[in-house]
Amino acid sequence: MEIKLASKIGFCYGVQRAYEKAVELSKSGEKVYLYGDLVHNNEVKKDLLNRGILSFESLDVLPEDSGEAICIIRAHGVPKKDKEYLEKNFKKIVDLTCPIVENVFKYAYEMQKKGYFIVAYGKKEHAEMIGLKGNIDEEKVIILREPTYVKSDKICIITQTTMDYNNFKNFSSEMVKLCDYNEILIKDTICYETKIRENEAKDIAIWAEFVIIIGGKHSSNTRKLYEISKKYNENTVHIDSVNELKEMQITKQYNRVGILTGTSTPNKSLEEVIEYLRRGFDG
Ligand code: SF4
Repeated sequence: MEIKLASKIGFCYGVQRAYEKAVELSKSGEKVYLYGDLVHNNEVKKDLLNRGILSFESLDVLPEDSGEAICIIRAHGVPKKDKEYLEKNFKKIVDLTCPIVENVFKYAYEMQKKGYFIVAYGKKEHAEMIGLKGNIDEEKVIILREPTYVKSDKICIITQTTMDYNNFKNFSSEMVKLCDYNEILIKDTICYETKIRENEAKDIAIWAEFVIIIGGKHSSNTRKLYEISKKYNENTVHIDSVNELKEMQITKQYNRVGILTGTSTPNKSLEEVIEYLRRGFDG
């Protein structure tokens, strides 16, 4: 069996950076809390908890010992007011927001200062979009998945860093036709890491007889890879770990298997899948 791995595989730059810093903190001897998920991957969360990092999910119930602890801020960023609240209540904050995401927040903020109304192509409920809204003027931004009428003298369209490039282009051109404005500006803010993986998904899906996409079920970029691959190859599965692949009880022999991962998939998950394939989908 031939196995083809995508060239960009495992953690992306922002996730690697956040993970390494979190691991370093876990060895510091300090009490460390994680607010929510560092990234959208259960294996990463389990790994950090095993290293002694604690977690809490809501600002309504802070840990009792927060005043003596360090708090890590996730790679997707958090609203400014949440960060300020954490700063007041914890001994120290370590902000691990990906610099690429931070740049998008800064860009949107600067454009608002220049009088633009921000239209962000993204998922309202995604942590990055919640972070975006909370770091700029909430009254002058709208997060949309579908083209929707907006009226403003100046409109600036940006996108969540993990959205599909072609869908963003279609969305933007529909917005240009639909909206009322004097000036409209389109800025592609999709992260290069996700774009490369997206292009490879198509090529690998065409080449392979069976495609495995490894990554968290809540990971936006992993789901996008799955959708692209599925379009070109019906035999595509999305798993978050080798156990899920085992449960599928695949008996068919494949000569060409392609593997892609989301940007928050640890190498360990990838290695376990490869080992299982090498044994011929056995054990
Ligand atoms: S996908 Fe890009 S923007 Fe998102 S964490 Fe990775 S490097 Fe940062």
